[in-house]
Amino acid sequence: MLFGSELSRNNGDIQENIRNMATNYSDSSSLTDQTCVFCLIANDQDKETEVIKKNKELVCFRDIDPAAPHHYLVVPIQHIESCCSLHTGHLGLVERMAEMGKAVLQDQGITNMKDIQLGFHQPPYTSVNHLHLHVLAPTSQIYKHMMYKFIPGTYRFVMVKYLQ
Ligand SMILES: [Zn+2]
Ligand SMILES: [Zn+2]
Repeated sequence: MLFGSELSRNNGDIQENIRNMATNYSDSSSLTDQTCVFCLIANDQDKETEVIKKNKELVCFRDIDPAAPHHYLVVPIQHIESCCSLHTGHLGLVERMAEMGKAVLQDQGITNMKDIQLGFHQPPYTSVNHLHLHVLAPTSQIYKHMMYKFIPGTYRFVMVKYLQ
């Protein structure tokens, strides 16, 4: 008997979860996905992550798993799945993402702008399905064990210039 009521309570929870998911799903059409960690960061809802730079369109923060002494991510506040979802109408956005990445590097004291790496991972090599530009510097100091993830021009790592 006890077990039975416990079970029906759990079923209630599941239904509640499904209802929440449905609500979140309809929210995603209003440009935010409540289950997406980068959306939370972009909307100041993640206390763990320090936003380094922000404007109306973009935010920049540190990669939690840095592959170089400087490793930042620039993401649009609007939820865009990946660089595969980009079309020519996004060219300006990609350029502005790159500009913000470079500005952050300069703020952080990087002076050699030739020794930097800007690019996107293509699915399935993306860790979070919210478009993010990897900004790394200096290229010459990318950690060896992580280098394979950031080889320019490979299927894994698409440089900004190839999207332009
Ligand atoms: Zn998102
Ligand atoms: Zn990535």
